[in-house]
Amino acid sequence: MKKIIAMILAAMLAFAGVSAVAESLTMCTNVAFPPYEFYGDDGQPTGIDVEIAKAIAAKLGYELEVVDIEFAQCIPGVQSGKYDFSAAGMTVTEERKQMVQFTDTYATGIQSVIVPEACEFEGLDDFVEENGSVKVGVQMATTGDLYTTWDYEDEGKGTVERYASGAAAVQALLAGKVDCVVIDNEPAKNFVSQNEGLKILDTAYAEEEYAMAFAKDSPIYDDFNAALAELIEDGTVKGIIDTFIPAN
Ligand code: GLN
Repeated sequence: MKKIIAMILAAMLAFAGVSAVAESLTMCTNVAFPPYEFYGDDGQPTGIDVEIAKAIAAKLGYELEVVDIEFAQCIPGVQSGKYDFSAAGMTVTEERKQMVQFTDTYATGIQSVIVPEACEFEGLDDFVEENGSVKVGVQMATTGDLYTTWDYEDEGKGTVERYASGAAAVQALLAGKVDCVVIDNEPAKNFVSQNEGLKILDTAYAEEEYAMAFAKDSPIYDDFNAALAELIEDGTVKGIIDTFIPAN
């Protein structure tokens, strides 16, 4: 009997020890996509996605753990259950909906085109008209990659060079390895302001909506999405977005 009581006691203590530390939710993202995710001055990930996810986690009583991986690994990582969810400035597309379930959308994005400052073309088609083809730099597996692959590479109008991050694609542009980079507008503005000699074309390439992605059988999806909806409703999400994208 004594032995059993001791065992129960030990089990209770172990349980208390574990539950004293808040459980964490793991969010995967590519922390090279400012202002949605980037490393702050303190060396910690921050940005629109990170702060919204933190607010949701706090509301649900979890800590948030951000895991920095390639964007191309985000959907597979969520599908396999390795991460609880992905918040990565991720565009909702029909193809991705086959693989994951998306939360409500919380932001909009535009695929824009970054070119060298001296470029006089107005859009990708001008490169094709003048030079016969266009060499596009993108971040692998992003919508910028998909759209330009369909519209230019598959049509025999150019080639798409795929890089592990948007930052790497911009470096390739600076080195003259590609004609342009197709990437979401807010990261584009950040990259152009941080690097000399680049500009964004006025012509937007495509408009899209961002949402966070969960495995289809995720046990926390419903609670998470409800918390996000509340934070959108009460203005918290807008407040976070306005902090990172000051209105011009
Ligand atoms: N919005 C784009 C996409 O979903 C890019 C996202 C990203 O590079 N983090 O494909």
